[in-house]
Amino acid sequence: MASEFDLIGRYFTRAAPADVLGVGDDCAMFPVPAGRHVATSVDLLLEGRHFFSDVDPRALGHKSLAVNLSDLAAMGASPLGCVLGIGLPQADEAWVDAFSQGFLALCDTHACPLIGGDTTRSNQGVVISVTVFGSVDPNLALRRDGARPDDDIWVSGTLGAADVAYRLLAGALAPDPVRLAATRAALEWPTPRLALGRALAGMAHAALDVSDGLLQDLGHILKASGVGAVLDYAALPVDPALTGLSPEDVAHAVLAGGDVYELCFTAGRQRRAAVQQAAREAGVPVSRIGAVQREPGLVVLDDSGTPMPLRTRGFDHFGLD
Ligand code: ADP
Ligand code: MG
Repeated sequence: MASEFDLIGRYFTRAAPADVLGVGDDCAMFPVPAGRHVATSVDLLLEGRHFFSDVDPRALGHKSLAVNLSDLAAMGASPLGCVLGIGLPQADEAWVDAFSQGFLALCDTHACPLIGGDTTRSNQGVVISVTVFGSVDPNLALRRDGARPDDDIWVSGTLGAADVAYRLLAGALAPDPVRLAATRAALEWPTPRLALGRALAGMAHAALDVSDGLLQDLGHILKASGVGAVLDYAALPVDPALTGLSPEDVAHAVLAGGDVYELCFTAGRQRRAAVQQAAREAGVPVSRIGAVQREPGLVVLDDSGTPMPLRTRGFDHFGLD
């Protein structure tokens, strides 16, 4: 059976950029551009909790890094490198090979080299922890506490597809192979919006990536900024793959569905054209979905301007629902 060192050497070692000390020493070292700060984020993915045991390992490799790169995007940061901690119940080389291919392909796409990590045996399923490092101008970084009254609220891409794929795979929605085929990539191959985040740095007042559901995540911006918001339900970019689902399932998916990895951000009304231009250049559509207001609270208005009853909440790992 392959040892820890065999696995590291075969699947996780790549030549690092010339000015980077990568896999193989006690620490990795990388330069930080002058005048910028390091932005860093870590995510933990547990088998059975964050991914299904039979997930395509290439997709899992991709997603393990994508969710971290999405955090850099939401900060307006550019990747410098990443480290990977992985715990494996057994050394299934075909699995590790496919996982590393998915992971390293996304490293290449975003010039985010894998520069270190730790590999160990796990007694309880696959455990994956990825830490990314990026750089950002601290004065332009997209924090959560900068939303101001009368800001527009925007979201990139579409909403709801990942939640529907998750519920189809979990058996919470009746089997529908056509809809699963149309939504599965949103769940398993999310696209981190790095170009958009960079373009919004210094333009948006507050931003985050939607990982736990639009309402819950927007709530984090509102709380950190000491403001409230009104959303226009009809303006939400519902993924076309949701067509034909019940209104309740659609509302759950777009308002509370997690695993979205789109950017939700606020910007001054006078920046509308600039936001649209940034989105065009980044190659991702954005939708203006509401406005920040001084009074605390989060209201979603339906087509007739009536507040919708909001029973749906985001996916809270320590919550009871
Ligand atoms: P140490 O005992 O000094 O922590 P290890 O034997 O754990 O070193 O790791 C050897 C080298 O391989 C280190 O440079 C480490 O960063 C790297 N490494 C270990 N596991 C991984 C992995 N899954 N991905 C990338 N690099 C890894
Ligand atoms: Mg180690």
